[in-house]
Amino acid sequence: MADTLQRFLFENASVRGELVQLDATWRAVLERHDYPPTVREVLGESMAAAALLAATLKLRGSITLQVQGSGPISLLVVECTSARTLRGIAHWNQDVPAGDLHARFGDGRLVITVDPGEGMERYQGIVPLEGANIAEALDTYLERSEQLATRLWLAAGQDRAAGLLVQKLPGLAPDADAWTRVTTLSATVTPTELLELTPREVMHRLFHEEDLRVFEAEPVSFRCSCTRERVEQMLRQFGRDEVEALLQEEGEVAVDCNFCNQHYVFDAVDAAQVFLDGTQPHAGPTRH
Ligand SMILES: [Zn+2]
Repeated sequence: MADTLQRFLFENASVRGELVQLDATWRAVLERHDYPPTVREVLGESMAAAALLAATLKLRGSITLQVQGSGPISLLVVECTSARTLRGIAHWNQDVPAGDLHARFGDGRLVITVDPGEGMERYQGIVPLEGANIAEALDTYLERSEQLATRLWLAAGQDRAAGLLVQKLPGLAPDADAWTRVTTLSATVTPTELLELTPREVMHRLFHEEDLRVFEAEPVSFRCSCTRERVEQMLRQFGRDEVEALLQEEGEVAVDCNFCNQHYVFDAVDAAQVFLDGTQPHAGPTRH
């Protein structure tokens, strides 16, 4: 099945697992920008990781995974919402060599932001970017943030991005060796298996001797959370003088969403309305 998140539980073991495969979701990201393979790989792996991590949290908001670099790739951002919608983008400014994260990002840092939604405070964790790949960087992050023991395996190709996550749940389990056994088995998964086998086949290939409880697969999709209202908010932050200067020069203000290429245009009347609304945040009539 395409574009799914598959959860499972190891019975009597206090260990859970998730598999994700992104097909159309991943291709929707690739259609919007022409990424070289060395960028595509880390972006796809990050998208799979965001989907896996979002599913481990009880969220009504979103999780954002961001890598900021000083090297060939300067920024990578992916977001997964509690509705299992994903978006992602990367910026690079020169040839990006193959190799470890340092080769691709230079000195970088990994920033994870969790927005629990419903007015709850967001929280953020930051670690220096280290490791051969995104999965290793996340393993380090998760270790340092003292969350539940978690391991990830990720892969991305031209048509699909995929990943496996296993996590040790709190509490004593009757099957005390399970965590070691599950991580050892998981570590034998290959990128080709993650990308080409169905989740059921991957589970069978890795865990056929384990007692698994498999939940119903959940759909995952591409969706950008940009809206005209959010762009208006951005214009207000930009400031009335700046916007009016742009209008003078160009006749209109055009804003493109980097994630989805949606094109937003504001003419002089639209812009005036933006700043009128801005002075009475909740009193203005709704438009569109
Ligand atoms: Zn957008």
